[in-house]
Amino acid sequence: MEIQRDIPLADYTSWLIGGKADFFCLPKNAEEVEEAVRYALANALPWTVLSGGSNVLVSDEGIAGLTICLRRMNGLQIVESDDRVSIECLAGTGKSDLLKVFLKHKLAPALFLAGLPGDVGGGVVMNAGVSEAMVPREFHEIVEWVEVLKIEGRDLRRVILPKDDIRWSYRHSDGWQPGIVLRARLGWEKKADPEILNKVRDANRVRLSKQPLDMPSCGSVFVNPPGHKAAQLIDGCGLKGFKIGGAQVSLKHANFIVNTGGATARDVKGVIEHVRQTVKSQKGVELRTEVIWLGR
Ligand SMILES: Cc1cc2nc3c(=O)[nH]c(=O)nc-3n(C[C@H](O)[C@H](O)[C@H](O)COP(=O)(O)OP(=O)(O)OC[C@H]3O[C@@H](n4cnc5c(N)ncnc54)[C@H](O)[C@@H]3O)c2cc1C
Repeated sequence: MEIQRDIPLADYTSWLIGGKADFFCLPKNAEEVEEAVRYALANALPWTVLSGGSNVLVSDEGIAGLTICLRRMNGLQIVESDDRVSIECLAGTGKSDLLKVFLKHKLAPALFLAGLPGDVGGGVVMNAGVSEAMVPREFHEIVEWVEVLKIEGRDLRRVILPKDDIRWSYRHSDGWQPGIVLRARLGWEKKADPEILNKVRDANRVRLSKQPLDMPSCGSVFVNPPGHKAAQLIDGCGLKGFKIGGAQVSLKHANFIVNTGGATARDVKGVIEHVRQTVKSQKGVELRTEVIWLGR
């Protein structure tokens, strides 16, 4: 596997923002991920994982060490029994590919997966999901097990963690670190919903009407604080349209910050800070970011 130098990362993120990776590789399977980590360890480089890049803000100064990008590590296998459909996915498999399998079998998970960008590994790490009332609505409900490359010092070990060995919380999962998610098995009981395709179409229509999907973003920037909706708090402070450089609080959805063209990570950070301070002083609520900062 080729280890490249000075690779611009903006094209690997949904915000189209970010500096260069000092070192960069695109492993296609678990063996190549292991090879990448061993390279980093042997050369005393820090390592960072990037998957679909739809929930990260990459520093303008780039990422030090080796960035391991999983988007070529994709592929899935369907395991069907009398009462269940399970799908074993490599971490870089698109959620959209997973959605297609559930949709083909007319199963409920297709609905919450509709419109969730990024990859399966990123979905596990973030416990991705939707806030609307539906079953299932978060990744942890469909996960059966997760295969992780555990990295402890120089010791690399592949382990399979059953779903209950992982602690799942709102947009977060714990108990598999330090490591890299290599593979996951996801499934649902075989109870066909003949209306699922129409429900998915409706959900896509609603997303399109409410979210600025025609502009680069990373989805919701802030976690909904208990008892509140971040978007309502931000909108209530009159912050829609607030802009620094190329980064703007979306006019369509106040919890999205869009790249209107040429935005830098510094611009986005500036908008995030201004929104946090304004919401804190006007509404008395502390906002926490859902987006993950990567790099220097
Ligand atoms: C338009 C839009 C709408 C969105 N709507 C939603 C939504 O409704 N609900 C929701 O939950 N999210 C939403 N998101 C955010 C995002 O799509 C999810 O969080 C997604 O699950 C992230 O997956 P990813 O593959 O892009 O991860 P990345 O952004 O690449 O990574 C996210 C984090 O996980 C780590 N990571 C990724 N893969 C691995 C791995 N295999 N092993 C170890 N660490 C890893 C990365 O280092 C990073 O810290 C939206 C984003 C966009 C752009």
